[in-house]
Amino acid sequence: MADGADRGPVAGAAGGRAAAQAPEPAMWCDERFDFQATFLQCLAKHVPNIYSAEMDPLVEKQEEMVQAAILYPLECYLFGEDPDMFLEKLQQSGTSQLCGKVFKGGETTYSCRDCAVDPTCVLCIDCFQNSIHKNHRYKMHSSTGGGFCDCGDTEAWKAGPLCTKHEPGASGSPKENSECQLNEEIMEHSRRVFPSVIKYIVDMLIWEEEKELPEELTIREKVDSYYCVLFNDEHHSYDHVIYSLQRALGCELGEAQLHTTAIDKEGRRAVKAGHYASCQEAKEEIKRHSENVSQRPLHVEVLHADVMAHQKFALRLGSWLNKLMSYSSDFRQIFCQICLKEEAGSEKPCFISKLMLWDARLHKGARKVLHELIFSSFFMEMEYKKSFAVEFVKYYKALQKEYISDDHDRFLSVTALSVQMFTVPTLARHLIEEQNVITTITETLLEVLPEYLDKNDKFNFQGYSQDKLTRVYSVIFDLRYILVSKPTVWTDRLRERFLEGFVSFLRVLTCMQGMEEIKRQIGQHIEVDPDWEAAITIQMQLKNILLMFQEWCASDEELLLRSYRECHKAVMRCSMNGRSREKTVFHLCGHTLESRPYRVSADPVSIHLPLSRTLAGLHVRLSKTGAISRLHEFVSPEEFQVELLVEYPLRCLVLVAQVAAEMWRRNGLSLISQVFYYQDVKCREEMYDKDIIMLQIGASLMDPNQFLLLILQRYELADAFKKIKPTKDQDLIKQYNVLIEEMLQILIYIVGERYVPGISNVTKEDVIMREIIHLLCIEPMAHSAITKSLPENENNETGLENVINKVATFKKPGVSGHGVYELKDECLKEFNMFFYHYTKTQHSKAEHTQKKRRKQENRDEALPPPPPPDFSPAFSNVVRILNCDVMMHILRTLLQRAVELETHLWTEAMIQMVLHLLSLGLLEEKQQLQKSPEEEVTFDFYHKATRMGSSALNAVNVLMLLEKLKRVPQLEAQKDTVNWILQMFDVVKRLREKSSLVTVGATSGSEATKGDESTQDKEKAERKRKAEAARLHRQKIMAQMSALQRNFIETHKLLYENTLEAQGKDDAIMEEESTSSAIDYSRIALGPKRGPSVIEKEVLTCILCQEEQEVKFESAAMVLSACVQKSTALTQNRSRILELSGDTLDPLFMHPDLPCGTHTGSCGHVMHAACWQKYFEAMQLNFRQRLHVEQIFDLENGEYLCPLCKSLCNTVIPVVPLQAQKINSEDAEAVAQILSLARWLEIVTVRISGYSVKNAKGEKQSLPPFTNKGTGNSTLEFHSILSFGVQSSAKYSSSIKEMLILFATTIYRVGLKVAPNEADSRIPMMTWSTCAFTIQCIENLLETEGKPLFGSLQNRQHSGLKALVQFAAAQRTTSPQLLIQKHLIRLLGVLLPNYKGEDTPSLLEVDMFHILVGAVLSFPSLYWEDAVDLQPSSVSSAYNHLYLFHLTTLAHIMQIVISSATESPTAHSSDNGEEAQSAQSFCREVCQYTSGCFSQDIPGWLVWDCVKKGIMPYLRCAALFFHYLLGVSPPEELLQVSEEGQFKALCSYLSLPTNLFLLFHEYWDTVNPLLQRWCADPVVLSCLKGKSIAIRYPRKRNHLIELPEDYSCLLNQASQFRCPRSSDDEQKHPVLCLFCGAMLCSQNTCCQELVNGEELGACTSHALQCGAGVCMFLKIRECKVVLIEGKTRGCLYPAPYLDEYGETDPGLKRGNPLHLCQERYRKLHLLWQQHCIIEEIARSQETNQIFFGFNWQLL
Ligand SMILES: [Zn+2]
Ligand SMILES: [Zn+2]
Ligand SMILES: [Zn+2]
Ligand SMILES: [Zn+2]
Ligand SMILES: [Zn+2]
Ligand SMILES: [Zn+2]
Ligand SMILES: [Zn+2]
Repeated sequence: MADGADRGPVAGAAGGRAAAQAPEPAMWCDERFDFQATFLQCLAKHVPNIYSAEMDPLVEKQEEMVQAAILYPLECYLFGEDPDMFLEKLQQSGTSQLCGKVFKGGETTYSCRDCAVDPTCVLCIDCFQNSIHKNHRYKMHSSTGGGFCDCGDTEAWKAGPLCTKHEPGASGSPKENSECQLNEEIMEHSRRVFPSVIKYIVDMLIWEEEKELPEELTIREKVDSYYCVLFNDEHHSYDHVIYSLQRALGCELGEAQLHTTAIDKEGRRAVKAGHYASCQEAKEEIKRHSENVSQRPLHVEVLHADVMAHQKFALRLGSWLNKLMSYSSDFRQIFCQICLKEEAGSEKPCFISKLMLWDARLHKGARKVLHELIFSSFFMEMEYKKSFAVEFVKYYKALQKEYISDDHDRFLSVTALSVQMFTVPTLARHLIEEQNVITTITETLLEVLPEYLDKNDKFNFQGYSQDKLTRVYSVIFDLRYILVSKPTVWTDRLRERFLEGFVSFLRVLTCMQGMEEIKRQIGQHIEVDPDWEAAITIQMQLKNILLMFQEWCASDEELLLRSYRECHKAVMRCSMNGRSREKTVFHLCGHTLESRPYRVSADPVSIHLPLSRTLAGLHVRLSKTGAISRLHEFVSPEEFQVELLVEYPLRCLVLVAQVAAEMWRRNGLSLISQVFYYQDVKCREEMYDKDIIMLQIGASLMDPNQFLLLILQRYELADAFKKIKPTKDQDLIKQYNVLIEEMLQILIYIVGERYVPGISNVTKEDVIMREIIHLLCIEPMAHSAITKSLPENENNETGLENVINKVATFKKPGVSGHGVYELKDECLKEFNMFFYHYTKTQHSKAEHTQKKRRKQENRDEALPPPPPPDFSPAFSNVVRILNCDVMMHILRTLLQRAVELETHLWTEAMIQMVLHLLSLGLLEEKQQLQKSPEEEVTFDFYHKATRMGSSALNAVNVLMLLEKLKRVPQLEAQKDTVNWILQMFDVVKRLREKSSLVTVGATSGSEATKGDESTQDKEKAERKRKAEAARLHRQKIMAQMSALQRNFIETHKLLYENTLEAQGKDDAIMEEESTSSAIDYSRIALGPKRGPSVIEKEVLTCILCQEEQEVKFESAAMVLSACVQKSTALTQNRSRILELSGDTLDPLFMHPDLPCGTHTGSCGHVMHAACWQKYFEAMQLNFRQRLHVEQIFDLENGEYLCPLCKSLCNTVIPVVPLQAQKINSEDAEAVAQILSLARWLEIVTVRISGYSVKNAKGEKQSLPPFTNKGTGNSTLEFHSILSFGVQSSAKYSSSIKEMLILFATTIYRVGLKVAPNEADSRIPMMTWSTCAFTIQCIENLLETEGKPLFGSLQNRQHSGLKALVQFAAAQRTTSPQLLIQKHLIRLLGVLLPNYKGEDTPSLLEVDMFHILVGAVLSFPSLYWEDAVDLQPSSVSSAYNHLYLFHLTTLAHIMQIVISSATESPTAHSSDNGEEAQSAQSFCREVCQYTSGCFSQDIPGWLVWDCVKKGIMPYLRCAALFFHYLLGVSPPEELLQVSEEGQFKALCSYLSLPTNLFLLFHEYWDTVNPLLQRWCADPVVLSCLKGKSIAIRYPRKRNHLIELPEDYSCLLNQASQFRCPRSSDDEQKHPVLCLFCGAMLCSQNTCCQELVNGEELGACTSHALQCGAGVCMFLKIRECKVVLIEGKTRGCLYPAPYLDEYGETDPGLKRGNPLHLCQERYRKLHLLWQQHCIIEEIARSQETNQIFFGFNWQLL
């Protein structure tokens, strides 16, 4: 085969790689040369040149040079042919079976809960989507970076280890053997090349000389060229570094930022170049300045330029190798072999170990390259992974120590790789057996922790460093990883090694046993709360490790017994202090206890007892496996010393009791927290639970009386049960009572809590079910709440799913809230009031719930304990404490005190517990009697409880005391329980008697039973009677109620009927009329037949002063709180660039795209204007005084919260009354005769020209002259317009006027984003515009919600709209009439046939509804006569409205016809009705005027169809507008939803013919010129020619973008997201705009934008365009919705995705699969369309002040 030299130059084939200089014939290709020497020579020559410009590198240029000078020749040599072609071939020949994708921070990982061996086994999104696991129970999580995809690793998955992509032969390769074998020559070359490359990399990375290079690389004269290099660390913030750089180097902010970003990314950066001295000086300066702001100086070095260059190139070579590794397994193997090769006879570590050991000293960028290289080589080859793991463990201690003193995050440390090796079961086993890894890890722990050891060799974490300890935890984690998979087969070696490790681990626990002792503080409160978090955190971390150790031990009998012995020894060693004290003796009811004195309340005590608890854990496992029978072989009975084992856990429980009794008040919060965690779900398994078990062990092995005496003594209650009068000190008495309660509770637990495998014969599932049952007995709970209350195992599983459906049923959630589980009825009997995992509040809640339930079911309220499972043999003796003398004494004493009413000596809770213990005793005896013959049952609770004692104290037995107890008034609530116990006594008695001789008292027995039964029956009957009585009572009341109701109707019958009749009459009259004219007179809004305004007297109550006031023109103003905002909710073109500030904007004409409007909303709350002003001022004052309180709202911009509902508002709308108008039909008739449209037009024209002539006299002619063609009727003159009726304008009170101006100015200011200016000429335009736009928004909402046009608005919408329209009508009066006229004339320019101004837009460039509203509202200004403010009379305005409306309607029809001209029929219709024909003839006309551009081939029915559909929104808006303007009631049909009926009703209400084309017909002569003008418009023509596109009608209704049903689709999208501005692979926060679907790069400097001199984040700047400042985003990786407004406000909102339990998952913390909830998404849609986003933000900020800290601007 030819070698590289023979093939000649290949540069041409290299394409893009062809570089500035032709590749020189590589010397190293010659076999005669020593490759290494040649290679280094080449590098020495090129590298310093290539990387010379370090300060300002041209990255692309550098890369080009590297390729040409070094990499290309190198590859040519290595492959022996053209590299590109060769690699291409390799690539195609197949891929590895392992995916090995390395995760970046924030990437989503998937784990299968069914198949993953442990939760650290994860898949990348590609593999997951192509695997079988996507249909299993999976979890999604965000990677912290540094892990890699386990697809293909057969040890990681119980099933489906390969996705379809990585399955052999899946990628289309025909070969079975998926990897292409490299030929021998290439292998040979690799073996020559790799060692030199690797050696160079290693040498350069660990190079420490800052001035010199290795000899081989030094070829040129050394120049004095140095860099001052700054390194990244985790101590200094971004700002610190920028500050230090600016100060030290005197550079600009921008430059400093640039450096800082690069340092953060790469880990280091040259910040100054120059001579050695100057760099050294810069270094000192930077250090000095950084010390000013932070305790530590920044890490700065001065490096020679050549050193810097070679180090840089070494990394480049590293990534080159990394790339190479992915191509072939052979490459990987050769690479690994070389990396692992140790120099013969040398003690030095191999290459890879060298790098590992150097890891903590490398900068961030270098570490990343190195770790990726390890992933792509060692971790892809199982055999070498093992070798790597061996090396890793070899240096484990050193590596961990380096890491602990390192200052980089864990994922940047090589130690983070442990999880990749330790969790692989075979590797773990190998490492334990061969490398003794457990011992290594625990020894590491012992070596890194000594700084926390006190003089007794116990840990003490006071004043610990959080960061350092967190680093120690990672060692603990390694222990957890190594123990994750329990071996199934034990070899001798494994057993020995494990035991060795366990013993070593016991040494760690020994340092914890009894650590951080505390002593009760008496007199003074402690000064500083001691640190407690560290110790508790370690306990949490250790919990599962302890459990795993116990499980490992238990899997082998030999091992279990031996480890038990070791553990026992360790406990004993720790229990030796206090031995010096003399034993004392304690007597009670004939029993004595000898013990060494100790008092929890006076002597030191510790809550940390991991050794004792491990022993307890091993003990129950002994019991479970039966190995306990061999225990004596390993621990002799003399050594066992059970009293000593019990001692420490007992002290701990007593401490808890004393804390509850407030005896430790002075020890502060830290103790309270410790006690909390002691019992909390996160710790309790290896703390509290085990202590109870230890007491159970004690109770099973000790004499019961002695045991109880010990308990009494430790609880310091010995005196309380002797007949010694306690003191009168109330506090002390209370303390005693609490202690007694606590002790009784512990006794209940010792006897009753048997749900532990080994203590009784239960399974783990039984245990979990019982936990869940008790949680659900409190209340129905969400899935996540249950999960949180259950302990997690080492795989973060609770086992919940396996059992939940056996005990509970799921209830789905509504639009808000979450789904819950409810307990099944049949499980209620399992309820145990004294469940040991209940907190005090849970206990009382559960008791309350259960009693309530029983009451509702009409049952007694007794809640006796459920029968517990039998103890296993090893624990069977525990029950003896129930019937021992001391217990009887305790029970009797307490009952006696209750009966004797010594109220201060007992509590109800205490008696409840006594009753519970009694019940337990009776249940036990009953169960035993049912199982075995009576003579074998030695458990004689009944006997003891019914026996009379001889002493005075025992004179009364328990049974008798119980009878008396029933009469104690304070214990009324316990009566049912007492009865239950009495029945139990009877049951046991009968069982005893039945099985003993029948002769003994058989008759008396049955009699007694009968008697009892009859009392029982009696009570039952009584209860029944009561229930019946209650039912009857309810019935009676119901009857009375309905009687009252009937009465009311009777008395008011007349009234009802009268109104009905009256209505009927009216209707009848209407009908008569309507039959003649077919028109409903009262329900027409426009023209001569206009119906009357329906005006109710409006009396409003001010929400501030609560006074009522009627709305009148002349009275003081009432106002509605309102919020004005810009809105893009209706836009038809989101890509249009919005003008952000409207300084030069002319808002008179609205573009038909409706790109951005001004919306006015109100919460509907009314105030006096004066009251509101006072409120607003007070608030302003208030906030000014509280300067540092961040404000929710912007007072400068007039914002405030509605005083009643706390909605965010920024202005008020004055409430203006509607002017009542009624038309005299005779007048109307008369006017109708004369005032045709043509005539009306002329009159208007004359009037307008008149004005312009008048004005022209004074100033420059402001109005263009009208062409006064047409009839030229000379009778018309300037004043003709007045002859059809005028009236004087309404006189508004000054306060109303003031409010009109105020509100109008706000609309102007907000809508145009300009400074307020009351005199601006655009104020009226904005008024009309917001009125029109708001109506369009409401129409849109009603339509999308499928609601009828009238009668379905919310109250707030209704009153807001009403006020807005009336305001818009009245606003005219506060502006100069000339101005209004000027605007009106411009508006009319679009509509009038005989006038067109210079700036009159084309027909296709305006929204007609906006024109209509503007024209109608401004029209009265034409009636203005110098100083006299007149307005049209009712009749006049009826005609004005009619004609204006007809003209705009004609124009709109024309718009629709033109825009749909290009429509092609989708379906054929044979409809050739009247409308279709009219349409056809109309089209023919239009065709003429457009010189044929308009095709007359369009079928008439299609045109009609388009018009009818397209015009609906406009008609609906017009109906709303005129209704709110005039107050004329709409036809009934508009109060319902019906397509066809609606159209007819609208036409009738708006005085339109239903065949709309008739309108043209009717006005043909007048309209003809107009039509011609419209058609001749160039824009129209271009549209008809198909050159431009006009907006289609009806406009599309906006919706939030469509979201995928499955959330992982979104995650998938996000994972493919690439920031448009930067190519680095740093963590990104992809965010989805829900308005337009844009994916943005949020919270990242790369995508910030400079808007008006301010840096805005990608979201904030997008929102300005997309939503006019208000926007809605979905943060995909966090699964949260973000609402933002402007630059300063925003809030989080739950995403509309739910898991199968009906819960959201913000932050993907739980990681369950999520699915879209349509209802919730719809709710978000409404939030947007109702313009309530701002309101939602304000509300959330008010309740949730946390978000203030967030800088929304940079989102
Ligand atoms: Zn993968
Ligand atoms: Zn895969
Ligand atoms: Zn699976
Ligand atoms: Zn008021
Ligand atoms: Zn309100
Ligand atoms: Zn958008
Ligand atoms: Zn970006």
